[in-house]
Amino acid sequence: MSPKKITSPEDPAMGELCAELAGLARELDLSNEWPARQLQLCGEYGVFEWFLDPEWGGQGWDNQAIVHGYLALSSACLTTTFVITQRTGACRRIASSSNGELQAELLPDLVRGKLMTTVGISHLTTSRRHLARPVLCAERAAGGYVLNGFSPWVTGAAQSDFVVVGATMTVDDQVTPEQLLVALPMNLPGVVAGEPAQMVGVTASHTGQLQLQEVFVEDRWVVAGPLENVMSVGIGAGSGGYQTSTLALGLARSAIEFLAAESVQRPELGTPLEALQQNYQEVHNQLFSVVRGESDCLTELLRQRANSLALRSAQAALAAAKGTGYILGHPAGRWCREALFFLVWSCPQPVLSANLCELAGIASE
Ligand SMILES: Cc1cc2nc3c(=O)[nH]c(=O)nc-3n(C[C@H](O)[C@H](O)[C@H](O)COP(=O)(O)OP(=O)(O)OC[C@H]3O[C@@H](n4cnc5c(N)ncnc54)[C@H](O)[C@@H]3O)c2cc1C
Repeated sequence: MSPKKITSPEDPAMGELCAELAGLARELDLSNEWPARQLQLCGEYGVFEWFLDPEWGGQGWDNQAIVHGYLALSSACLTTTFVITQRTGACRRIASSSNGELQAELLPDLVRGKLMTTVGISHLTTSRRHLARPVLCAERAAGGYVLNGFSPWVTGAAQSDFVVVGATMTVDDQVTPEQLLVALPMNLPGVVAGEPAQMVGVTASHTGQLQLQEVFVEDRWVVAGPLENVMSVGIGAGSGGYQTSTLALGLARSAIEFLAAESVQRPELGTPLEALQQNYQEVHNQLFSVVRGESDCLTELLRQRANSLALRSAQAALAAAKGTGYILGHPAGRWCREALFFLVWSCPQPVLSANLCELAGIASE
């Protein structure tokens, strides 16, 4: 029998799904296998419905509800939740596209979990930006575009049916300011998903390079563009937004809950625990005031505070778990490695600078 669909963040089924994900998290980290079972569970519990409108078969949760949902999921299993953010980023790019035929073809099956997708857009936002020539270029051809190059970071490319990928337009091999976003079918000739990288954490997300050699993409796969700053059109997987902070906070929550459980027998943990709990509540409140549009707190500042809390909470959990926590398989060690992810994931320059200032022990400018 299929589980009950989760229809709100308060739904008791949320607790059931999170307990299942948390139960699988240790093995996922040790094996580095793709979280197929976890994603199947999320599909059965209706998680993929949260992010898209009823028009496509979704539940169309509002931003606050989605943040509550992501907090619960990321506290149970960061890797699975991260994969879902990349999938959702691609879905939302398509949902905000003006290509109605593409939407009708892909979105209903994405909501049902029958199709898998992800994004390859970092080279337009936060990766390889210092290079003179873009790493992935597109040139106009009859009825479509020819893409050449690579997307440096794509999570779950080999497991996806298509990837929402960005490319910089060239004319006669000369780079132009215009960019293109396409839903690239993974079975097109010339598309190769590279071997996933072995990483410090979230290796099970199977993130690697996506290579494209003379790939002809028909016009019907265009999501947006060609135009300047294609990433600023519509909503989607923007870099440095509050979604990244949400996942950092979810990770901090599991580490703080671990500390709280330990402190029952160990009163000496009480003072640091209280300080972390208070800090958690502050960042949590700040996150929701940003989500509600009430706060003038910059998402960069929120991000830096969430990163800092994730790093400190994970290390506090490890310190409390002592040598036992340093053995692979213990969650405290995993949280420490996962917290480092937030120093590099989708970090625009202001966030990177703020992180470095915090690490250097100086106030950011
Ligand atoms: C686990 C993981 C999963 C990810 N998944 C996705 C995904 O699914 N989709 C997606 O689009 N993105 C994804 N990303 C990409 C991510 O959001 C960032 O874009 C990425 O972490 C940027 O790192 P980079 O090494 O490519 O940065 P770069 O800026 O390209 O830096 C690369 C190297 O160049 C050097 N360098 C940097 N700046 C300069 C400079 N100004 N001058 C000279 N040298 C310089 C540095 O030595 C650096 O090590 C993922 C990243 C990670 C770590």
